[in-house]
Amino acid sequence: MFKTEAYLSTIESSIHDFYSDLEREGYIGNSNFEYARAINQHKELFISLLASTDANDATEKTKEFVQFCVIHEIPYMFVYGELLTIARNLMGLLAKEGDLENLQALNSYFDSLESKITIAYFHKFLRRLAAKNHLRLSHIANLVEKNLMVHYQKHLEWLIQLIAYIENQCCIPHPELNHSLCSFGKWLNNTSTPYIITTSHFKEVTRLHQTLHDTAADVIGQCQQQIHKPKHLIHLLQRLDYISLEIGNEIAILNDMMMIEEYSKDPLTGLLTRRLFDKIMMGQIETAKATESQCSLIMCDLDHFKIINDTHGHLAGDAVIKDFSALLQKILRKSDFIFRYGGEEFIVLLPATSAHDARVIAQKICDEATSRITLFDTVSLYYTVSIGVIPIITETTSYVLKETIAHYVSEVDSKLYLAKQNGRNRVE
Ligand code: GH3
Ligand code: MG
Ligand code: MG
Repeated sequence: MFKTEAYLSTIESSIHDFYSDLEREGYIGNSNFEYARAINQHKELFISLLASTDANDATEKTKEFVQFCVIHEIPYMFVYGELLTIARNLMGLLAKEGDLENLQALNSYFDSLESKITIAYFHKFLRRLAAKNHLRLSHIANLVEKNLMVHYQKHLEWLIQLIAYIENQCCIPHPELNHSLCSFGKWLNNTSTPYIITTSHFKEVTRLHQTLHDTAADVIGQCQQQIHKPKHLIHLLQRLDYISLEIGNEIAILNDMMMIEEYSKDPLTGLLTRRLFDKIMMGQIETAKATESQCSLIMCDLDHFKIINDTHGHLAGDAVIKDFSALLQKILRKSDFIFRYGGEEFIVLLPATSAHDARVIAQKICDEATSRITLFDTVSLYYTVSIGVIPIITETTSYVLKETIAHYVSEVDSKLYLAKQNGRNRVE
C-alpha cells in the first residue's frame, strides 16, 4: 500500500530482525521437519502481508498472519513487537516524505490492529486455560480416594465457570463471588477437623481463597465494562491460575496429612493400627536410648472371644472390642501408644516405664476389664483379658532393626501365651 524503494528495504530489514529474534529465542533453528514447514509458512504469510496492495488486502493478510501465529503459539510480544517496528519504520518514512495523510491512516490502522491481535491471543489464552483446568479435573477424577481433593475439584469447576463467563461475554451467570458462599468457601468455613484447621496450610488456603475471589471480582468487573483490555485480563487470569495452583498444592499437603491420620487409625476403635507399629517402635527405642530411659510392652488378648461372637453375634463382639479400647484409653497415659494389633489383640508401648510399673498398669487393666458390663441391645456382655508384659531393654550400641522389633513382639506374645496357659484373666 505504501510502495516505495525505501518501503521495500524497510520490509526486508524488518523481516531479517523478526527472524533473528525468533531464532535467538529458540523458536526457529529446530531440526524438526513440521517445525521448519511451519516457519516457512509463517515467512510466506508475513511477506504476503508486507506486500499487500491496499488497506483491505492488508487487513485480510494481517488476520491470516496473526491467526497463524496464535495457532503456532508464537509469543504475542514477538508478533505485536515486529508489526509495530514495521509501522514505526513506515511512519518515519512517511514523515520524511511529508505524507501526513497516509501517516495518519497508518497510525489508526496499527491501533486497530493492536486490539485485534490481543483479542485473538486472548481467546486462545482462555481456551488453553480452560483446557488446563479440565486436565486437572481429569487427574482428580482418576484418584481412587479423593478425600479433600473433592473440594479442590469444586474449586476448579468454579474457575472453569468463570472462564466460560468471560468467553461468553458475560451472557451466562458468573460463578459465586462471595468467598464464604461458593462451595469451596462453605467447606473452609464448616471444616472442624482439628488436625486440619490448626495447620498453617489451612490458614494459607483460607488466605489464598479470599485473594482468589477478590481477583475474580476484578476480572468480572473488567469484563462487564464494554471496552475491556484483554492484556489486563490476561494478566489477572494468569494471577488467578497461579493462586489456584497454590491452593491445589496446599490442599494436596492437607490431603496427605489427612490420609496419614485416617489410615493410621483403626476405624472401629480409633486406636493406632499395626501399619505404624514398626515405625513408632523404632522411634521410641531410639528415644529411649538417647534419654537412657526404659520402656515396656504390653500385649492384651480378649479371652474366649469366639464364644461372645458365636453366642451374641459379630456386632456384639465389636461392641466388646470398642469397650475394651475405651478402657485402655481411660487407664493409659496420653503418651502411651495403643495399637489394635489384630482382631481382639492389642499392643501397648509405654515409654519411660519400667517393667514393674508396666505390670501394675497391666493388672489394673485386667481387673477393670472383669468388672466392665457392655450393653448390646438389651444384653449385658462380660469379658476378661489375658496380658503379657516385657521390658524393652535397649542396648545403646546396637541399631534398631525390623528383626529387633519382631523379637520383642515374639517375646511379649510368649508371655501372653503363658497367661492363657495359666488360666486366662491374668497378667504374666
Ligand atoms: P483365646 O482366649 O484363646 O484368645 O480365645 P479366643 O476365642 O479369643 O481366640 P481366637 O483367636 O480363637 O478367636 C478370636 C476371634 O475374634 C476369632 C475372630 O472371628 C474374632 N474377631 C477377630 N476380629 C474381630 C472383629 O473385628 N470383630 C469381631 N466381632 N470379632 C473379631
Ligand atoms: Mg487372639
Ligand atoms: Mg482371644
